[in-house]
Amino acid sequence: MLSDEVRIFRPGEPVQVVRAPMSIGAETYGLPGPVPTDAWHVLDHAVSVIHRVTPWATVIAAPTLVAEATYDDYPCREFLRRRDSEKNYVKLGGRSFGNEGLIALSLYSWSGYLISTAYHEAWHQLERILDKKILDEIDGHLIPLSWGSAYMDSMVERRARCFETWAMRFEEGMPGLRLSSQVDAIFDAAATGEIAKEWYKMQQKAARGR
Ligand SMILES: [Zn+2]
Repeated sequence: MLSDEVRIFRPGEPVQVVRAPMSIGAETYGLPGPVPTDAWHVLDHAVSVIHRVTPWATVIAAPTLVAEATYDDYPCREFLRRRDSEKNYVKLGGRSFGNEGLIALSLYSWSGYLISTAYHEAWHQLERILDKKILDEIDGHLIPLSWGSAYMDSMVERRARCFETWAMRFEEGMPGLRLSSQVDAIFDAAATGEIAKEWYKMQQKAARGR
């Protein structure tokens, strides 16, 4: 169904609805577009995933999410070209804006992808508070694999895809394997919100110590 509805989920606040098009973060825009009915159905769940992993994040869900980009940045993606502009736009499933504590989601895709994108973007957001030792531990287990673009091959993207894939197994209730390695333990603490809780505690302690 065609929609121009953009929903904004700020932590602890009622959902705000605004109309697309709207500017979201740097060079990124929410546009009107077709939204599958089941995308609305799972959106609340996708938002709850993000608010569990990164409780501080504001989530903005738009029918279509696009960003100014060049083909070389994202050879793996679908592009749109504006007739009135030299600029190219890439269609995104989601994007995390670390400095702003903001995650944007696109609703154009199918609903399963919306949930995995929520995990993916929440991980990008969470990495900002993770110790380098934790990232090194994960990187040490990734095998060399070329996806054909610097973007897809980057460790940042590979870690986010790993977490998303890991988390999606448990969305369907897959038994076992949850804590079989150090990387499992890291992803489990991220997915359950334990890392975020510990981080908040440390922030409070640091604030009291000032
Ligand atoms: Zn990513």
